[in-house]
Order: sequence, then C-alpha cells, then structure tokens
Amino acid sequence: MKIAVAKELDPAEPRVAATPDTVKKFKALGIDIAIEPGAGIKSGLPDQEFTAVGATVSADALKDADIIIKVKRPEASELANYKRGALVIAIMDPYGNEAALKTIADAGVSAFAMELMPRITRAQVMDVLSSQANLAGYRAVIEAAEAFGRAFPMMMTAAGTIPAAKVFVMGVGVAGLQAIATARRLGAVVTATDVRPATKEQVESLGAKFLAVEDEEFKNAQTAGGYAKEMSKEYQAKQAALTAEHIKKQDIIITTALIPGRPAPRLVTAEMVASMKPGSVLVDLAIERGGNVEGAVAGQVTDVGGIKIVGYTNVAGRVAASASSLYARNLFSFIETLFDKASKSLAVKWDDELVKATALTKDGAVIHPNFQPKA
Ligand code: NAD
Repeated sequence: MKIAVAKELDPAEPRVAATPDTVKKFKALGIDIAIEPGAGIKSGLPDQEFTAVGATVSADALKDADIIIKVKRPEASELANYKRGALVIAIMDPYGNEAALKTIADAGVSAFAMELMPRITRAQVMDVLSSQANLAGYRAVIEAAEAFGRAFPMMMTAAGTIPAAKVFVMGVGVAGLQAIATARRLGAVVTATDVRPATKEQVESLGAKFLAVEDEEFKNAQTAGGYAKEMSKEYQAKQAALTAEHIKKQDIIITTALIPGRPAPRLVTAEMVASMKPGSVLVDLAIERGGNVEGAVAGQVTDVGGIKIVGYTNVAGRVAASASSLYARNLFSFIETLFDKASKSLAVKWDDELVKATALTKDGAVIHPNFQPKA
C-alpha cells in the first residue's frame, strides 16, 4: 500500500499533511510513503528530512497512490493525477461547496473530510478542528500583542507604572480557551463570553472572568454534540447590550464564535468598534465564515480610526510547523483505522462511525447525507 503526500497548490497554505515523525509511523506499519517535492518546505521540512526516514520524493508521487493526504480540498486540476478508487483525505471545507464535492466524486476518488470527525473519545486524537483551533487561539493573541502598541503585563518601573492590557475573548471553544490561557500567560486581565453555560466554569478555571446573559435560552444553548445553537434575535440583542458597555473598556478583543454549518454570528458592530480607544486591537478568528466583527476583512489588517481589526485567514498556518505536526498526527491516527495490519492492506470499514461521519464521496457519487447535490 502506498500513501502520497501532496504539495499544496494554494500558495497561502504553508501546512503539510505528513512529517518525518508520521512517515516513520507509516513505515513501521509497512506502508510506502511518497512525497511531492517541496511539500514540507513551508513548514520547515525540506525533502531530505523525509528521505532520511525512508520516504521517496518524486514528482509522480500521487500517480499510483492508494491514499493521498493533503491539507486542503483538491482542485479539479489536482484530481487528474489521482488513481480512480484512491482515497483522498484532507480538510475539505464541504459546507456550501457541493459543486466541488461533485467534481471530486466525478474523478472516482473517495474523499474524507477530517473536520467532520465525530467528537467522541475514540476520535480525539484525530480531531483536526481542535488541534488547529488550539494553535489559532494561541496565535491570535500573539498577533494582537504584535499589533498593540503597548505591553500586555502590568509593569511597575522606576519611571512609572504601565497598566495590564484588558483582553476580552468572545467564543470560548478550543480556540477561545487557548486565547484566554495565552493572554493570561502574557499578564493581561482577561474576560470572556460564550452562549454555552459549560464555558463559565472553564473560563473561571483559567483565571478569567465570565460575562454573559444567563437566561433560559442560555441554559439550553448547547447541542448534544457540544456545539452552540444559533441564538434568537432577542438573545443576540440582549447579548449585544451587555457586551457593548464592556467592549468600550477593552484594549484587545479576540473573537472565535462559530456555529457548525452556519455563518459566524455578528458579535461586534462597527459602532462597538468605534467605541473603543485608539490603539485597541480586534482579532477575528471567525473571518473565514463571514466574521464576528463588522469591518473585518479576510486576509488583512484594517485600521478604523486608529483601531486595528486583524482578519488573517488560516491563523493556525501562521504557526505552520506546529500545525503540520499536529495535523499529520491526526491523519496518521485516522489512517491507522483504515488499514489492516495483518494483510498490510487498505481495509475501509464503511459502516464504522468515523468513516460514515467523514466520507464525502465514493464510487462516483457524493455519499454524505449533508452534502447531497441540490435537485
Ligand atoms: P466552535 O469553533 O464551533 O465555536 C467556538 C465557540 O463559539 C463555541 O464555544 C461556541 O459556543 C461559541 N459561540 C457560538 N455562538 C456564539 C455567540 N453568539 N456568542 C458567543 N459565543 C458563541 O467550537 P469548538 O471550539 O469546536 O468547541 C465546541 C465544543 O466542542 C466545546 O465544548 C469543546 O470543548 C467541545 N470539544 C469536544 C471534543 C471531544 O469531546 N473530543 C473535542 C474538541 C472540542
């Protein structure tokens, strides 16, 4: 069996789907690994690092591979190089991209979306949303600190005292929790909000203060899967009224609020941005899904009257080596479940819940119930 590691087409994608560490693990299972030249270079992994652990590096790496691993969903031009019947495993961004999924199905490959992995104990080690969101949360604070013209910690010096920066984190999932922890480590005074009641205790356990409208709707805002529900217009208005006053006094706002399969909720209006002090910084981690902050622009830092709104996309990719390392391990753990160790061959159990949750296409058709082409 052969696995190929694709080089990403998107010049803005620095991550790679394998590392020397995971190549070693695949080799130990008796799996051959071929890498497209330069696939790891933007993650600090030149080709020699891969050949040193037994991978082959070749421009033809993908041609006869049984499994192709990559970071982003393959484009039509890439699919032409894949063997029919091959598996391709990546972060597929399937929501709203049904046409692209149909193109993959037409190429006769079986595509798996890593971000649809169920959040069950068994699949924790394959949870790419968590591994990448954790790094994005960390990096969001670093970006904020870089854009902020002041220090984060309180500093008492002979020349006078500098107050600690006030950081407000909106959305306390994996990214938000890491943002809180990172901002606290830098010495900021941190507050946070979320619509899921379970987050209150988590925020407090990190030494931050929790702020939310704790009404009946809030008490039921978490789905059985642990995600947020889309809140009513009434709740959002109450939430905005509460946070508006708080936002005026903040130096840094980091937003991470998402609802699976829906556009990101708008949490910070242009008016709220304008109410902040010049020099303040907002980092919108939800920008790829429309953004939480009005005025945030994907891929850019916008200056609104001296207030900076950071809209970088692929924030985990800004810590590329760490992001690749964790993503590659997520992939290895999933592929291990698709492999029969005795016969050293591919053995996909199509009724396994991990496969059912992530498989998008098979035998020329889109098979995932959530992404059926519209009639
Ligand atoms: P996410 O990226 O989908 O959303 C980020 C946060 O935004 C969530 O906490 C959500 O509640 C919040 N949010 C949504 N609408 C909001 C609004 N209007 N105002 C404020 N906040 C809003 O979330 P995530 O990081 O993927 O985490 C979701 C949950 O899954 C968490 O409980 C997390 O601990 C859990 N989780 C479980 C596992 C596992 O069991 N294997 C793994 C990872 C995460």
